[in-house]
Amino acid sequence: MAKDNTTPLIIGAAALGILFLAKGKVGVKGGYDIDLTDDSPKEKRKGTRDWEDITGITLHQVGVSGMNPKAWRKVTAHLGVHTDGTVYLIHPLPAYLWHGHKLNRDTVGIEVAGNFVGDLSKPESYWKAGGGPDSLNSAQITGLRRAIAYIVNEVKRHGGKIENVFAHRQASSGRTVDPGAEIWQAGGIWAQKKYGLTEGGCDYYRGTGKTIPGWWDEKCGPLPGTVQTVAEEEVVFSSEAEGAEFPG
Ligand SMILES: [Zn+2]
Repeated sequence: MAKDNTTPLIIGAAALGILFLAKGKVGVKGGYDIDLTDDSPKEKRKGTRDWEDITGITLHQVGVSGMNPKAWRKVTAHLGVHTDGTVYLIHPLPAYLWHGHKLNRDTVGIEVAGNFVGDLSKPESYWKAGGGPDSLNSAQITGLRRAIAYIVNEVKRHGGKIENVFAHRQASSGRTVDPGAEIWQAGGIWAQKKYGLTEGGCDYYRGTGKTIPGWWDEKCGPLPGTVQTVAEEEVVFSSEAEGAEFPG
């Protein structure tokens, strides 16, 4: 039997690799600022997913203007982006959370602080009970992109691959302005271009959800048979900053 000299080399390379594994912040731009995973309620974690089963990101708005940063630990999402751009890691990415109805099982949820309009050309198209409306600022856009980059890099580092970026709207008739045009354009469409992700196509939705409208992404409208102005569509929403849970 020939002597196998390759095994010690492989073990040596693996040991070296472990030395270089980064903890916490990963990638050039991706990362989070504050780790709340020890403080967030563990009962919100309904299971643990394998890394290769995490294939998408779902974008949300909390629907509340002037959110207190202390409220982040109770928000049902993996990451939160505050008004000042601070990125919170609320739950570990493999945690199975009830954040997005039928998007729960295979996606990581990002919530963005604020109450944002659905259609930028119609200033009244926001959820009135949440205050505001707010506009996405540059620090928040940077924070949102850092959160997306963190997820893409972290899943890749564990052998998986993020392929989709979804809006909560795509899985719930009760979330027609979630996350709204600004977050979708600054985060969703940005991620499509940066990482080659897809919303599943302009006709894609799950459960009771609605498709991405032309007033969020011009490539998706006008399409025959779809609602093309928010005036034709009721603004339906409720706060996602009070720890509301919904199975899916
Ligand atoms: Zn949502």
